[in-house]
Amino acid sequence: MLKLFRDRDGCEIKLIRASTLALYWYCASKAYQQATGTESPPTEATKIGTRIHNAISVARPLTNAERELESVLKSYMIKVDAGKGSTGLSDTENMVYMRPITRNGKIVGNVVSHGVDDFRIQEDGVVLTEYKTTNTKQIDYYKISTALFQVKVYAWILEPFLKTAGYNIKKCEIIYLKRNGEFIQQFDIYNLPVNQFNILTGCMRQAGFSEEHYNNSLALLRNNTFTLENVESDIERILQQFNDPSKLIAPAKFKCYICKGVFKEQCPLQRNSKN
Ligand code: SF4
Repeated sequence: MLKLFRDRDGCEIKLIRASTLALYWYCASKAYQQATGTESPPTEATKIGTRIHNAISVARPLTNAERELESVLKSYMIKVDAGKGSTGLSDTENMVYMRPITRNGKIVGNVVSHGVDDFRIQEDGVVLTEYKTTNTKQIDYYKISTALFQVKVYAWILEPFLKTAGYNIKKCEIIYLKRNGEFIQQFDIYNLPVNQFNILTGCMRQAGFSEEHYNNSLALLRNNTFTLENVESDIERILQQFNDPSKLIAPAKFKCYICKGVFKEQCPLQRNSKN
């Protein structure tokens, strides 16, 4: 039967947040638990992060064209009622962008997001910006894949709305800041059509890259570029595991050591490892 996925009691889930999908790259079990209704209360760190986000989001004056685009984009935001067992936003006052997931031409569910923190219109397209704050001097490498996928999903959700307004996505950028607002590092992820991605990887092969060099370069290219088709196939892969939690992939062990609270207590992978 066509469905996005089901929770632990067999109830059908219709909505999933982009940030929950991205959490999969940190820990599949944590993402699955969040997707099926487990939420952890906000910590002091997340509250500080939110305050910095909000301050930055309103700090830059928009150009006339950007103001116009912003109002077009906002007109596509909707209120969603998540319903039982869903991870969709519980507060119906929350406005989100939503993009459907289809299988065999039928909509099986939707991915929702509040959108990116900021955007700029440049000559050759729109740049989407996401800010991340941390209290560490360096960015923990194992958190980067989550952030990278998160902005890729944001771009995937926003793309049809931007297209309607006559814009294409040039790139997404993730800007890491310390909690005092100091800049740490920026990651750029370029929008690349599938054919160009294939041409690039084909050229690497032809240039005689060694297998190791080729694989390393490919991983780098995958992180630094995205195609909307690849985002969709990654989402589908995650949903397949959510539909069959026995297939959830365990994270690196150190993540379980530092995992606390409700996610660890209810973790299906912890239970399986004790059996
Ligand atoms: S205990 Fe480990 S596997 Fe379970 S949610 Fe935490 S990090 Fe993930």
